[in-house]
Amino acid sequence: MIPSILPTYSRAPLTFVKGEGSWLTTDDGRRLLDLGAGIAVNALGHAHPALVDVLTQQANAVWHVSNLYNIPAQQTLADLLAEHTFADTSFFTNSGTEACELAVKMARKYWYEKGQEDRTTILTFSGSFHGRSSAGIAAAGSEKMVKGFGPLLPGFKHLEFGDHDALRAAIAEPDVAAVMVEPVQGEGGIRPLPDACLKGLRDLCDETGTLMILDEVQCGMGRTGKLFAHEWAGITPDIMMVAKGIGGGFPLGAVLATEEAASGMTVGTHGSTYGGNPLACAVGAKVVELIADADFLAEVNRKAALLRQGLEGLVASHPSVFEAVRGSGLMLGLKCVVPCGDFVAAGFANDVITVPAADNVVRLLPALNLSDDDIAEALTRLDNAAAELGGVQ
Ligand SMILES: *Cc1c(COP(=O)(O)O)cnc(C)c1O
Repeated sequence: MIPSILPTYSRAPLTFVKGEGSWLTTDDGRRLLDLGAGIAVNALGHAHPALVDVLTQQANAVWHVSNLYNIPAQQTLADLLAEHTFADTSFFTNSGTEACELAVKMARKYWYEKGQEDRTTILTFSGSFHGRSSAGIAAAGSEKMVKGFGPLLPGFKHLEFGDHDALRAAIAEPDVAAVMVEPVQGEGGIRPLPDACLKGLRDLCDETGTLMILDEVQCGMGRTGKLFAHEWAGITPDIMMVAKGIGGGFPLGAVLATEEAASGMTVGTHGSTYGGNPLACAVGAKVVELIADADFLAEVNRKAALLRQGLEGLVASHPSVFEAVRGSGLMLGLKCVVPCGDFVAAGFANDVITVPAADNVVRLLPALNLSDDDIAEALTRLDNAAAELGGVQ
């Protein structure tokens, strides 16, 4: 008999009933150190007092009004994003998938309005993840995501991650509207696009007029130690997808864009019932305010260096379990020798939460404000899990 919840997830036998900072408590009283943060969502940890405060204040004021009316919290959030990023304008969604949908629509509408309606193709890369909607799976294109769900949304061309020649040839085609890429692939196994490649891609986009869409749903919002990952390369996109961390655990996503890239999106061309609602935007504005702070980001970088150093030691002491550390900031991956799922399970047994990814990688995506004590505790627990799996060398 089918379970009453559609069985699309294989769930770990853990039931969390309370969260505080980087710690989660189960229904049977176990406390686990959370290095997954709901897959890079709880960017400020669980139950951050300032977020609980703005959420409850907004809940007591008004929950929902519709985008037919002004929403002050949405305006505050949009102004903050315009102040701290390349963006002239933002549209708010409830998820990263919805941000992908709008990014695709926006890019195609841009060229339509320019009288070049044949420019509809969007270039994407192997190993990418852009959500589970029809556009999202067509964009990523992996067999695992698309098989059985055809006919797929047309107009995506998939390139091999790292194949510069294929990219150079593909982007010169006259039907290309945009390129969509994650500066650091998350689901694909924490694969950073080197800064030089992101710069080179920006140049190719400029030469051909192609719109650059960055998917910073997982790598954005302070995760790599800058507010957005592309800042490390000194470039800016035309359109950017954001979600996960921006809501700190409340469902919120956004598409940020330059005035030029957004020029096709006029009254009536897009909408969302819940997107940009008062609750999500009140939380989102507080999250952006706290994470965009230079001192906060400096702390993220300091902690990232501390954690990374410890992980290099961990990999060196357990060569039969791990191959390498990779990633950027607090978006780190342990490339495994053992099946990565085995390590995640060993972590659970040692009361530490990690997240598996493709390419046999275990992801560490902790709260950006975890403490130095949390880092020390994390390294101890990861070491214990590795020792159990591989024996101490
Ligand atoms: C999670 C994710 C998405 C999809 O976001 P949802 O909120 O799950 O719809 C899209 N792109 C990337 C890079 C992601 O990590």
